[in-house]
Amino acid sequence: MSTPQNIPFIEAQDQEIAACIRGEENREANGLELVPSENYISKAAHEALGSCFTNKYSEGYPGARYYGGQEFTDQIERIAIERACKLFGCKYANVQPHSGAPANIGAYYGMLKPGDTILGMDLSHGGHLTHGHPVTHITKSFNFVRYGMKNPDTGEIDFEEMREVALREKPKLILAGFSAYSRELDYQKFVDIAKEVGAYTMADMAHIAGLIAGKAVKNPFDYGFDVITTTTHKTLRGPRGGLILIREDADLAKKIDKSIFPGLQGGPHMHAVASRAVAFGEALTPAFQEYAQQILKNAKAMEKVFLDADIRLMGGGTDNHLLLADVFGSLNVTGQEAENVLDEVGITLNKNSIADEPRTMFDPSGIRFGTPAITTRGFKEEQSARVAELMIEAMKNKDDQAVKDRIREEVRDLAHAFPIPDSFV
Ligand SMILES: *Cc1c(COP(=O)(O)O)cnc(C)c1O
Repeated sequence: MSTPQNIPFIEAQDQEIAACIRGEENREANGLELVPSENYISKAAHEALGSCFTNKYSEGYPGARYYGGQEFTDQIERIAIERACKLFGCKYANVQPHSGAPANIGAYYGMLKPGDTILGMDLSHGGHLTHGHPVTHITKSFNFVRYGMKNPDTGEIDFEEMREVALREKPKLILAGFSAYSRELDYQKFVDIAKEVGAYTMADMAHIAGLIAGKAVKNPFDYGFDVITTTTHKTLRGPRGGLILIREDADLAKKIDKSIFPGLQGGPHMHAVASRAVAFGEALTPAFQEYAQQILKNAKAMEKVFLDADIRLMGGGTDNHLLLADVFGSLNVTGQEAENVLDEVGITLNKNSIADEPRTMFDPSGIRFGTPAITTRGFKEEQSARVAELMIEAMKNKDDQAVKDRIREEVRDLAHAFPIPDSFV
């Protein structure tokens, strides 16, 4: 396993919390993480997260703060911004959002007025809660309208429908991005339709930001998108956090800064900003580009095993780091049953609705899984394909304890053979 964290003061002072940390370390070391939104950070990023910057209030932005003592917070935030802009090829960045959801909300309020319309991906076709799910507060402020896939088995977006809805509803923002969609997007078409109706374009790249930064998939900025929002903790492989990138519009960047602070948040979490800066530094290395490429190769290796076993994959397969399999339709195992049996054998992933879900969201037809975390551990195509085989075997034998015990052993051996690394550079 990776070097255990040094926590002498917690161990001396608070055994209950120390035991939880050791427990989680062991869980991560002994199992395989296939949740496509999860990853492991470096010890360097971890150190920054545990640094003295957590003590400091620094409301405002570099050079314009509400409190004294900002010599080093200003330096840290400027470095983080500069690295983020270099990574994604843009002029402006806000590195303060506490996570991906506030990054989106802050971006919406920076670009729009309450009551404005946002055209986003159908949630059951892979959109995120923050793209207008009725349970979220933002649906009280903005009017969300939808586009979807033309054919869930190819993943093709219905751009004719998108254009029709755009012409009819006059959205002020067209949103690209997803949490459970496995195909490359035709960004040019989004930009063309947005131009026609006078809307901003925003790409929520929370899942694939690391693939973009690593140049393994297309960058929406190359097609003229106005704004990219993302998390920093998924494929980008940094600490938990949010990030807003603005291609070139200085006025828009100012509005978005104001929207994040003082509009939405209070003091930035400077220890987290410091850690994001460290992670961005790692993502700027050639090794990170190799990492991003390997994520895709590993996902392709898993895709092949699933398709060879005649298991239906939404979108027909994957162009990125994730796969969505209709296990109920193909194996007569529900998403919840699959999640449970895979948990038992040490493989962690999540149940997920498929497009036009025939079951309920509490026990849907699908599972969603991906390769960012196992690729960080050093898995190549061979090990990734083996994990896919073990997954299918476990699902097919969900009631056979002997089979499950044998798979649990092999999963543990694989995890031990590929320990979580301490450093990526
Ligand atoms: C994960 C995700 C978010 C939200 O990020 P949090 O850090 O969980 O708030 C937003 N949008 C998309 C597309 C995501 O996948």
